[in-house]
Amino acid sequence: MDLNKIEHLGIAVKNIEESLKYYEGVLGLKCYAIEEVAEQKVKTAFLKVGDTKLELLEATSNDSPIAKFIEKRGEGVQHIAFAVNGIENALNEVIEKGIKLIDEKPRKGAEGLDIAFLHPKSTGGVLTEFCEKNN
Ligand code: ZN
Repeated sequence: MDLNKIEHLGIAVKNIEESLKYYEGVLGLKCYAIEEVAEQKVKTAFLKVGDTKLELLEATSNDSPIAKFIEKRGEGVQHIAFAVNGIENALNEVIEKGIKLIDEKPRKGAEGLDIAFLHPKSTGGVLTEFCEKNN
């Protein structure tokens, strides 16, 4: 398996505009993209910190995974995303090692990345994303 960095942290927020008051106004980061991922029922906002990104996630519907997360656990860090070389191989490797996956095959995520989620039940409670730039 070839993980090369933390690509981003996914942070569940109730309201992106409100949250940006902290991330931009206090921390001085810059939001460079806002994108809706209709399939996941989320709106995302991206900020860069050096080589790593923060992905703010706001639910666009009450049955969005983000709405459910906030209902259960409140706002906060929702997932960790590793950049991986060879996402298919990495997924096969974790399957062989008995890890439960949410996505057995990569799919398109925000920013056009190929992404797949590992199930938090298999990862010590941390929703884990693999992602790879494929263009
Ligand atoms: Zn993510």
